[in-house]
Amino acid sequence: MPIHSLPEEVANAIAAGEVIERPVSIVKELVENAIDASASSIEIRIRNGGKALVEVADDGVGIHADELELALQRYSTSKLETIDDLHAIHSLGFRGEALASIAAVSKMELISSAAADGAAAILEVEGGKVNEPSQTGAPAGTRVRVRDLFFNVPARRRFLKTDQTERNWISRLVSRYAMAYPEIRFRLESDGHENLRTPGNGNRLEAVGQVLGLEIAEQLIPVQEPQGIRVSLEGYVSPPSLSRSNRREITLFVNGRWIQDISLSSAVVQAYHTLLMVGRHPIALLFLTVPADQVDVNVHPAKAEVRFADPRMVFSTVQRAVRATLLGQAPVQSVMIEPVQQTSWTPADSPIERTIEPPGQTEMFVPVLRSVGQVGAAYLVAEGPDGVYLIDQHAAHERVLFERLMAQVEAQAPESQALLETENVQLAPEQAALLQDQLPTLTALGFQVEPFGGNSFQLRAVPATLSGMSPERALRTVVEDFEEDEAPLADHQEARIAGRVCKAAAIKSGQVLSLAEQRELLRDLEACEAPRTCPHGRPTMVHLSVAALERQFGRRG
Ligand code: ADP
Ligand code: MG
Repeated sequence: MPIHSLPEEVANAIAAGEVIERPVSIVKELVENAIDASASSIEIRIRNGGKALVEVADDGVGIHADELELALQRYSTSKLETIDDLHAIHSLGFRGEALASIAAVSKMELISSAAADGAAAILEVEGGKVNEPSQTGAPAGTRVRVRDLFFNVPARRRFLKTDQTERNWISRLVSRYAMAYPEIRFRLESDGHENLRTPGNGNRLEAVGQVLGLEIAEQLIPVQEPQGIRVSLEGYVSPPSLSRSNRREITLFVNGRWIQDISLSSAVVQAYHTLLMVGRHPIALLFLTVPADQVDVNVHPAKAEVRFADPRMVFSTVQRAVRATLLGQAPVQSVMIEPVQQTSWTPADSPIERTIEPPGQTEMFVPVLRSVGQVGAAYLVAEGPDGVYLIDQHAAHERVLFERLMAQVEAQAPESQALLETENVQLAPEQAALLQDQLPTLTALGFQVEPFGGNSFQLRAVPATLSGMSPERALRTVVEDFEEDEAPLADHQEARIAGRVCKAAAIKSGQVLSLAEQRELLRDLEACEAPRTCPHGRPTMVHLSVAALERQFGRRG
């Protein structure tokens, strides 16, 4: 075959393939156009996973009737003028090829009204062939209807997946944009069913709740502002207690653009080092703002990747910000030793405050600690990734025993240890009455006690968790030595009694521990849900950060 120029139709269809691979590509381009047009509401309707129809309607600035035809031509855009503009792009679109590409491989209808016109114009295109525009009436904004994708390129149609898969991609994309642009109201309808709706009230957390569900949203931790000068970062990350089996839930936006970036995803994953089990991945929604001249967005046909002027700096900013958020450590103040604080979490806006509670104790965790030794037969010294920890061995052990015992109570499977010989316990009358009242609770905890006439009781088994202490002592604890500050354990009988017996059973201050025992206690504490306080709310540890040490040694101002 001699060399010849391809007919325009064929050339356009080939070029379109770069930009429009599947229905979700259309949704992406049209949603980006709506965002660039300052829309406050974007409605997306699809049929058959977008293969039969993708319709995107916005209430943005619209296109003037006399520019409608131009908008459909390749390389015509209102967003870029000179080559220099390419170095600092502030809009999502800039190449002027999306509408042309979509029109080349579908049956498209474009209706738009620029507010000043009052009237709307409509234009139909089939496989790139444009009909004369005509007048119509429509609300201000733009509505693009795309039917029968690839009707004229059967080879491409064969590469489409099932309706459901295509729909899932669209739903995922719209969800991501809905979370990135909480000030825009998004609505996605698929085959007549509403799939997603966000309020568009500017409250990001509320949009996140609509997309990921309230249960997830309320567990997420807001990312602390990093110290980066050139990069700022906001968003949410999951606590280590909430993870996924793959990295798909790591969402990155750079300057309002959803991007795929393996290196930045790794920065997020690295921030969770030692906090997640192997094979588990975090949920993260990170919105980075980088000066427009520090990022090249013109490197990928679908604009799904970017190139940073200083990738290492962006990487470390993300990694450090997420790590700091997870460790719950704001930059160290002038205090030298501070008790380890729970990550505090206050939702920004009022409507969500009613539905989202501050996190429970589960969001407190400790990093993996390396045992260094014991001081004063009372405190363990340990090293963490971010400094030195001093651990109160008694409070820590109390916490460990308490969680173990309560886990069994909650599972309604208390582990009992039968005594070799039944023990007879004689109590004062007042205590006997108390114990009598608490017998069902004791059974729930794993005690086996029976009244034995008068003020005596027969003890046949104790909770296995308490096997380290004398059985009689364990039972007596239930009715003696009331903690003044038991209140934090709430009304639950089990928790109150468990707290009391675990306190009695825990390693005491003054007890020398072997290295192996120290290590075991640290491991057990790390595994706790709320390792930072004893069941009565006192701290189990104090933290001496590397920064504080540096300051004390005059290495830092
Ligand atoms: P680009 O977004 O790269 O400029 P497109 O082909 O997507 O290229 O759009 C071409 C032009 O049409 C845009 O520059 C814009 O002026 C106009 N346009 C497209 N969609 C909309 C819309 N939803 N609202 C207002 N103008 C639009
Ligand atoms: Mg565009």
